[in-house]
Order: sequence, then structure tokens, then C-alpha cells
Amino acid sequence: MMGPPGAGKGTQSKMLSAKYSVPQVSTGDMLRDAVKRRSRLGVEAKMYMDRGQLVRDGIVVGIIEERLKRSDCAQGFILDGFPRNTAQAEALDSMLKGIGRPLDFVMLIEVNEEALVKRLTGRRVCKACGAEYHILYKPSAKGAECEKCAAEIIQRSDDREDVIRERLKVYRESTEPLAEYYGASGILRRLDGDGPIDSVQAKLVEIMAGRAPKAEAAAS
Ligand code: ADP
Ligand code: AMP
Repeated sequence: MMGPPGAGKGTQSKMLSAKYSVPQVSTGDMLRDAVKRRSRLGVEAKMYMDRGQLVRDGIVVGIIEERLKRSDCAQGFILDGFPRNTAQAEALDSMLKGIGRPLDFVMLIEVNEEALVKRLTGRRVCKACGAEYHILYKPSAKGAECEKCAAEIIQRSDDREDVIRERLKVYRESTEPLAEYYGASGILRRLDGDGPIDSVQAKLVEIMAGRAPKAEAAAS
């Protein structure tokens, strides 16, 4: 699942994960978990994350390598927020070659920059289970508590406007070129992520089911 910060990768991946019973593998979530546990890796990662920059390739590639070996990935997985640059994409290619499981699709969710900033400044997450909310677009029915586990809902420390601008810049410079990388292999599908959450999900499911021809997926 590819796209700028705030495009809806986490939201959509979690929905697809529930629908297809395959794990959502999010480097952002795994790094935040390491930060919470104050592990050595977490302490190093936090310095980059708080500045909106990419964590070292060696760290994230190592995390993914470990994660994909776990048995719950045997029937498939949804990568969310990885790879984020060409070096990571190349490392992923050789990893997947090794386990004989190529990527089926790279979904590129596109949303205009103004909307991204609105989404990110209003994003809230559950402190315990990581469920995602938005103060306007997806408020919790339980107010300041998570609908799923009743834990406190908080704002991510990197969802401040100055850090958001940096993350968007890093995306344009390092991650967006991957569209060309995957476009060349024919597995890239672009989709407009501007509509309501459920209609974006419906488009993704259409593409996954192979019902939307390439051109239509790109235009819808
Ligand atoms: P990403 O994982 O790509 O950074 P998220 O899935 O966390 O993005 O979404 C960012 C914020 O925008 C969250 O608060 C989420 O609830 C909200 N959001 C996601 N998709 C949509 C959408 N289609 N319309 C409105 N808000 C959305
Ligand atoms: P995300 O949860 O995907 O928005 O990621 C939050 C932050 O975690 C990013 O701004 C980066 O600092 C870091 N991060 C997540 N995934 C990666 C990755 N694949 N490579 C490098 N840094 C990452």
C-alpha cells in the first residue's frame, strides 16, 4: 500500500486485512511499538520519526525480514508504508524472491496535499490498539476513548504541521519515484483516495478481485 502520509494506507490496510484475513504489516506501527518499548532500535528510530525523516534502511528492512518469516504471513500479507525508497524496494524484491512470493499489486492511493494536511492534523489513534480515528471524518463513537478497546485516543507526535510538511517532502523525494519502479513491472494500480473511506475501500476490493481493468482503476 503506497501513498503520501495521510492518504489512508493504514485505514484501508486494516479494512483489507479484516476482509481477507491476512496481516497488515506496517513498518510505522512496528517502529512506534519499538519506541513505546524503549528498545535500542526504538530510541534510534524515534530521532528520525520525530523529524519526519526516514528511519535507516537497515533497520526497516531487518524488521520486515523478521516479520515476513512469521507463520501468519504464509497465506499473504499487506505491506503498509514499506518500501519507502528504491533501496528498500530492491531489498524487498530479493526477500520475496527468496520466499517465492511476488507482490500481486502495488496500490498507490492519491490525495491532494491540502486534504492530506487536514487528515493528518485531525488524525487520532488509540494508544493501546492503534485503531485510527479522525476528529471530523471518523470520530470515535465513544468520544475520547477507543471504540474497540476503550483505551485513550491520542495524537501522534509526528502529526504536527511542521513535521507533516517534512514528511510530505520526504515522500515526494524518496517514495514517489517508486511509482515508476513498480509501474515498469505492471503491478502498479493508482486510485483516487479523495472520496469517503468506504468508497475507497470498494475501489480497492474491485481491483483486488481483478474486476477493474487497469485503465479504469487508474481513472476512477
Ligand atoms: P496513512 O496510513 O496513509 O498515513 P491513515 O489511514 O492514518 O493514513 O489516514 C489519515 C487520517 O485520515 C486518519 O485520521 C483517517 O481516519 C483519515 N482518513 C483516512 N481515509 C480517509 C478518507 N477517505 N476520507 C477522510 N478521512 C480519511
Ligand atoms: P507511518 O506510520 O507510515 O506514517 O510512518 C511514520 C514514520 O515512521 C515515518 O515518518 C518514518 O520516520 C518511519 N517509517 C515508517 N516506515 C518506514 C520505512 N519503510 N522506511 C523508513 N522509515 C519509515
